[in-house]
Amino acid sequence: MAELHLFWHRNDLRISDNGGLAATIARSPQTVGVFCLDPAILDGDEVAPARVAYLVGCLAALREDYRRLGGEFLLLRGDPRHVIPAVAEALGAIAVAWNWDVEPYSRSRDRAVLEGLTARGIGGAGHWDRLLHEPGSVMTGKGDPYTVYGPFRKNWDSRPKAAPAPTPTALQPLSADQRGAIAAIEGVTILENIPTARELGYPWANGLILEPGTAAARDRLDQFCDRAIEAYGEARNFPAQPGTSGLSAALKFGAIGIREIWQRSQEARDRARSDEAIASITTWQQELTWREFYQHVLYFFPELADGPYREPLKNFPWENNERHFEAWCNGQTGFPIVDAAMRQLNETGWMHNRCRMIVASFLTKNLIIDWRWGERYFMQNLIDGDLAANNGGWQWSASSGMDPKPLRIFNPARQAQQFDPDGDYIRQWLPEVRSLDTGTLLSGELAPFEQRSSGYPAPIVDRKAQQERFKLLYKAQKGQ
Ligand SMILES: Cc1cc2nc3c(=O)[nH]c(=O)nc-3n(C[C@H](O)[C@H](O)[C@H](O)COP(=O)(O)OP(=O)(O)OC[C@H]3O[C@@H](n4cnc5c(N)ncnc54)[C@H](O)[C@@H]3O)c2cc1C
Repeated sequence: MAELHLFWHRNDLRISDNGGLAATIARSPQTVGVFCLDPAILDGDEVAPARVAYLVGCLAALREDYRRLGGEFLLLRGDPRHVIPAVAEALGAIAVAWNWDVEPYSRSRDRAVLEGLTARGIGGAGHWDRLLHEPGSVMTGKGDPYTVYGPFRKNWDSRPKAAPAPTPTALQPLSADQRGAIAAIEGVTILENIPTARELGYPWANGLILEPGTAAARDRLDQFCDRAIEAYGEARNFPAQPGTSGLSAALKFGAIGIREIWQRSQEARDRARSDEAIASITTWQQELTWREFYQHVLYFFPELADGPYREPLKNFPWENNERHFEAWCNGQTGFPIVDAAMRQLNETGWMHNRCRMIVASFLTKNLIIDWRWGERYFMQNLIDGDLAANNGGWQWSASSGMDPKPLRIFNPARQAQQFDPDGDYIRQWLPEVRSLDTGTLLSGELAPFEQRSSGYPAPIVDRKAQQERFKLLYKAQKGQ
């Protein structure tokens, strides 16, 4: 009988191109997959129903993949610090393996699990799998972590990228005795069925715009790399167009591996015939680099999760008007592109990147509301909500993060005129103003009778005055 190993899945819900899983199976075909529903995450206040629905869909697909190979996948519920070592011991596993994560909570949890395993004489091993280049491998000449994206990217780009990890072909199931042994452990619940998002306390009735699981993510990747990637450079800016990959939730939960994604984008590059197409593919690959940059900085500067990195935004006198915040959340600010974007988020759990930048700039620099309020609201609603990318995006938008560029403030009307010139996106999400002429829709300057007949609100703030106020506050903070 082969030695038994556990592989603990977290944000890597796939069997293909999974570095830690492949290394574990290479040691023993009796590798049992486990996932633990962790109350510290699920009972927290930054959980989005759409994200939970996506997660449970991925778990169902992963269990099927294990079954197809003749293997076993256990869904557990409880505190992983107790559950993982206890299950490993009950099964007589000689080791537990997993893929590392960069988030502060995950790192402290993993250290505790490792201690629990060591205390029971069971091996524990983490692997780097989530990124093309792990933290510590892309450093400045002095050996420090990068705090600016440009030089990070140059260094990151110059490094060779690994090929996808091998996909397992066969696994061994648990015996009835082994199953019986775990059923008897105190404080460990094994779920026979994958619960629904509703059963986990997060009902989501709107359907998923991004289908969960590896097969769906691979379809999306194929479709994107077959054509759309060649036009991405331009199309990615227009929220009414399906110009981006839609892979963010799959990347967040690891439904597909980053090495596989990179390989497919390189194949598209080899096929591309025009300079424009190659430039587009490079632009898309640079978005993957942003993803890695934000994970590296969170790894080296975990304090980013709690607050601003740059001095002027520390102790900033935010106005934090709760009525304005509520209007922003509900898409009722009277600024059409902002409201359309917030309603897209509320209805689908996803928002286009251009619009994420617009609404974040508006919240922080026009409503003068602490970016952490927006960051939290995004985490409570995004299907792809991810601490590193979300915190990075918000700190970038609030000018509080690593990026030392001068203050940027987006003008919502100008953004709409440039990136939604026919008003298609605004019309899709704001049905009450659909029949207005495009110029009015983009500028947001509705006549009083248009406001009355549509029920659409008047602007909740004087944008220009607020912007000047923000600049003064920022200058004063800088001068301190
Ligand atoms: C305020 C704000 C909050 C954000 N919150 C998140 C979040 O919680 N989760 C998240 O995955 N992305 C976040 N982003 C980044 C970006 O908006 C999304 O990754 C993107 O819209 C997802 O759509 P896509 O998969 O079609 O992206 P594509 O344009 O096809 O990009 C491909 C992949 O690259 C990565 N990526 C793209 N842009 C960025 C970026 N700016 N930063 C980091 N990674 C990026 C994503 O994994 C994405 O799936 C945020 C951006 C802003 C401005």
